[in-house]
Amino acid sequence: MSITVNPIPENERGSCPKELAFGAAFADHMFTQLYDDGLGWHDAVIGRFHDLKLSPAAAVLHYGQEIFEGMKAYRRPDGKVSFFRPDANIKRFNRSAARMVMPEVDEAVHLEALEKLISLDQKWVPSEPGSSLYIRPTMIATSPKLGLGAAKAYMHFIITSPVGPYFKEGLNPVSVYISDKYRRAVVGGVGEAKTGGNYAASLLVSEDVASKGYTQVLWLDAVEGRYAEEVGAMNVCFVYGGERVVTPSLSGSILPGITRDSVLKLAPHIGFEVEEARLDVNTILADIKAGKITEVFGCGTAAVISPIGRLCFKGEDYIINDNKAGPVAKKLYDSLTGIQYGTAEDPFNWVHVID
Ligand SMILES: *Cc1c(COP(=O)(O)O)cnc(C)c1O
Repeated sequence: MSITVNPIPENERGSCPKELAFGAAFADHMFTQLYDDGLGWHDAVIGRFHDLKLSPAAAVLHYGQEIFEGMKAYRRPDGKVSFFRPDANIKRFNRSAARMVMPEVDEAVHLEALEKLISLDQKWVPSEPGSSLYIRPTMIATSPKLGLGAAKAYMHFIITSPVGPYFKEGLNPVSVYISDKYRRAVVGGVGEAKTGGNYAASLLVSEDVASKGYTQVLWLDAVEGRYAEEVGAMNVCFVYGGERVVTPSLSGSILPGITRDSVLKLAPHIGFEVEEARLDVNTILADIKAGKITEVFGCGTAAVISPIGRLCFKGEDYIINDNKAGPVAKKLYDSLTGIQYGTAEDPFNWVHVID
C-alpha cells in the first residue's frame, strides 16, 4: 500500500508561531488511513490538517476505544530533522492496539507516514534550543454502533505540533503529591497501554493536587497502595548516593516509557549504576530523610528529565537536594538531549535522520 501525498499550496501554509504553548498550534498537514474489517488498512493520505467527520455513534466517543503515541522531531545543527527511537514508539503503538482490540499498523507504513509527513512540514520543526515538533500518532474506533464490542472500522491519524523548551531557565524542580486516595492503573487493566481513558481518569487527582500547591502526582500501586509506580504521565527515578539510578520495575500497571528505557541504557554508559526494583514508598521517604536518596526525577518524552524537589505524603513534606536540580538529573538531561538534537555522539544508534 502506498501513501498518497496531497500537499496544500505554498500560499495557504501557515508558519511556526514564535511563542510555543504545548500542543496549541498544529502544522499544515496530517496523515490519515482507514481500516475496515475484511479490507484491512486503506486510503493512506497525507493532506491538509482538517477536522474529522464522525458519526455521533462512533465507538470511540462512547467506550473510549482509542490509543495514542507521543514522540518528537528534532532540528539538528546541520539543519536536518531527526526522530529519536521511532521504532520503539511504533512498536508500543501496536502493543497498545492489541490491548485495546484494535488492528495493528504495519511498522514500515507507520514509519513512512512519519517520515513523509514531517519531511513535508519541515519548516514547522523549530530550531530554538530545547524546542521540537511534537508528534501525536492516534487511532480511534469509528464504527457507528452503540452495542458494546470491538469496532469494525478504525482511523489512524498523525498530527504534529511545534513545542518550546519544557524548562525555560534550566531544569526546574517540581513539587509532587503522593496520592493516598487515587490510583492510576491496576495490574490486568490498561495501565501499560497509552489509551485515553487512563488520562481522563487522572484529571480529578491533577486538580486535587494543584489545589494543594503541587504540580504532579506520584502514583502508588493499586493493590497495596505501597509501591511507587509513576509521576503524572512520566516514569520516575530515584538516585541513591549520587551514583545509582533506581526505577520501579515494570509491574504490569506501569507505562513502559521510552525515555525510561533510554535512561536505563544510557546511565551506565556515563558512569552511573542502574537498577529496577519494587520501591516501597515508606522506604523511599525514610531514605530521603536519611540522605540516602540524593535526587528524584520524572522522565518522559515531553520534559525528558524533570527533577522533583519536594514530595508530600500524608501531609508531610520531604525536600530533596534542597529543592534544586541535582547533578545526575542534569547529566542525564544533557546526555540524552545531546543525542536527540545531534550535538553529541549516538552510541546506541537511536537517532533516525530524515533524508
Ligand atoms: C507516555 C507516558 C510515559 C513516558 O513515556 P515516554 O515513551 O518516555 O514518553 C510514562 N507514563 C505514562 C503514563 C505515559 O503516558
